Amino acid sequence: MAYSYEAPVSQSLFDRASVVTPGGVNSPVRAFRAVGGTPRFMVSGTGPYLTDADGREYVDLVCSWGPMILGHSHPEVISAVQEAVARGTSFGTPGEGEVALAEEIVARIEPVEQVRLVSSGTEATMSAIRLARGFTGRAKVVKFAGCYHGHVDALLAAAGSGLATFGLPDTPGVTGATAGDTVVLPYNDLDAVRAAFAAHPGEIACVITEASPGNMGVVPPADGFNAGLKELCAANGALYISDEVMTGFRTSKAGWYGVDGVRPDLMTFGKVMGGGFPAAAFGGRADVMAHLAPAGPVYQAGTLSGNPVATAAGLAQLRLLDDAAYAKIDAVSAELRTLVGAALSKEGVAHTVSAASNMFSVFFTDQPVRDYDDAKKQEAFRFTAFFHSMLEQGVYLPPSAFESWFVSTAHDERAVERIAAALPAAARAASEATS
Ligand code: PLP
Repeated sequence: MAYSYEAPVSQSLFDRASVVTPGGVNSPVRAFRAVGGTPRFMVSGTGPYLTDADGREYVDLVCSWGPMILGHSHPEVISAVQEAVARGTSFGTPGEGEVALAEEIVARIEPVEQVRLVSSGTEATMSAIRLARGFTGRAKVVKFAGCYHGHVDALLAAAGSGLATFGLPDTPGVTGATAGDTVVLPYNDLDAVRAAFAAHPGEIACVITEASPGNMGVVPPADGFNAGLKELCAANGALYISDEVMTGFRTSKAGWYGVDGVRPDLMTFGKVMGGGFPAAAFGGRADVMAHLAPAGPVYQAGTLSGNPVATAAGLAQLRLLDDAAYAKIDAVSAELRTLVGAALSKEGVAHTVSAASNMFSVFFTDQPVRDYDDAKKQEAFRFTAFFHSMLEQGVYLPPSAFESWFVSTAHDERAVERIAAALPAAARAASEATS
């Protein structure tokens, strides 16, 4: 596909980056490989807007993949960060900020009785899995195809289908032995989970699931799916781990737990709770968390865990996220979903706008999408055309058809109007696209 617009400064930065960094990026999806073209190197962000190195402004519908729920450079978050930085950047000792952030999380999310702070969502899920194995004395982990839990070795196994298939490593570097304890099942399929427990009696430490998946596009749990997982775990002595790294503090004040009320044994968090800094967490039942060092024998640690600047940013952000903030985000999301759906319908493009609370994405198919296989059947080439048309018109979408779109409290009428103005041409580009 040829692109009719250019980004010379971004391109030259990408050329430089590609010499010193594999693929030119520090996280693969940023490289635009799924859609082609030049990744935009951003230099600043304000409210709902990002500005790239070529001086072009975009309405941002990625929001740093979720964290920037108040928009970019929110004045209260920035001033909390500035105050924290002025006191020092890392002490390697306990500090009050981390206590306050932990208290805020515990106060918001009732199943979280205790919480441990870490620096990334990957670290949170990795540690939660280790704790589940340490607590139960069992080795196997059940995960679902299409759910992403960070680049934890054991959780990169997403291949394989059918009942209780032993996971195959999805990437070189993950050994068969590591992936062999991972059972990968189709999402939204409780029968498959039942069969896995029957096939591995007394061996499954935990079932980990995205509370409401956003990493195969947005595919919400079917009614009763999470409750069924919880019941099956309880009946079989396994822990139910709800990964709320993406949904946590976004889909409601109490994340997806605030939407479906299913009580996990352990939960993981990241993104929003860090206010744009590397802060994440895992937590849950106090009797399980008591197994964590130094209270218990399961080791887990981090030089920068509970970092004072990151915790100040996260706390400032969470304290601003009241009912009114969520109502605003939900309303903007609903408006955008309607606008996108209408534009695609007008051009006769087969699509499904799929939402989970205020997270949403567009599948280029009119068939129902309940799992990863369904998601992969969409005409992703139409997304590519849609994406580039939006980008050219100053709207920054996730550069993949399999990612959630994110909005913030800063997405005001003007930002929505800019998106609305770009949609007709993008929908036309999608309709004219050929594989
Ligand atoms: N879990 C979920 C549900 C995620 O969406 C992500 C990242 O997108 C992670 C875990 C990993 O978090 P991080 O990228 O902070 O390591």
